Amino acid sequence: MLKLENVSKFYYNKGIIASGFTKVNLELKIGEFVVITGESGSGKSTLLNVISGLDSYEEGEMYVNGEETSHYSEKDFEDYRRKYIANIFQSFNLINSYTVYQNVELVLLLNGYKKHEVKKKIYDIIEQVGLTKFRNTKVSKLSGGQKQRVAIARAMVKDTPIIVADEPTGNLDTESAKEVIEILKRVAKDKLVVVVTHNIEQVEQYATRIIKMHDGRIIRKYRSKKNK
Ligand code: ADP
Ligand code: MG
Repeated sequence: MLKLENVSKFYYNKGIIASGFTKVNLELKIGEFVVITGESGSGKSTLLNVISGLDSYEEGEMYVNGEETSHYSEKDFEDYRRKYIANIFQSFNLINSYTVYQNVELVLLLNGYKKHEVKKKIYDIIEQVGLTKFRNTKVSKLSGGQKQRVAIARAMVKDTPIIVADEPTGNLDTESAKEVIEILKRVAKDKLVVVVTHNIEQVEQYATRIIKMHDGRIIRKYRSKKNK
């Protein structure tokens, strides 16, 4: 699905060059639950943003289903994001004055679907994240864990092969974090899910692969022995 060969990302700020990450080699497939970990500033978010086409890269090559992307324009990356990527953020990025249903529905309306076509699909996905009881509740009334489950529902309904999540449990208590990770693990059965976290204990047993970064480089790739 995705392959990175010697990919490096630099930031240019007022004539100063800073490194986001350096010479990353990585191959990611559908059905994987990949965790990127490492201390703050190690390049996790930058790597995730390149994978999701939000950031450009300066060196190397990223292949999407075998197709080179180094020549991609802004518009090409926009198309890539629309077709391939759904994002989940630490801060949920939901519309608080909308209900759970409306938040999920919005993704589909923005993608050209009509209201009457999407009801069953939305009910089904809200069920999968365990929020049927809260379908008509405004997001502002929900707990952090529930909000993140709405965000997962939104990512799922976009129906892309790849879901990326940057510190999705960063604002959650241990119990809610576990629920969120377990839902993402289920979703990863037929998608590629890439999660960034500095809290490796929380996700280790679910990951099919763990990628550890330090100072902008991958220092270790391994498969969790505890993976179930
Ligand atoms: P992490 O997510 O692991 O905390 P980041 O990917 O955010 O790390 O950052 C990796 C490196 O890139 C850090 O040295 C950081 O200072 C640098 N960096 C990130 N974003 C920018 C930016 N917009 N401009 C300049 N440097 C940046
Ligand atoms: Mg980060």
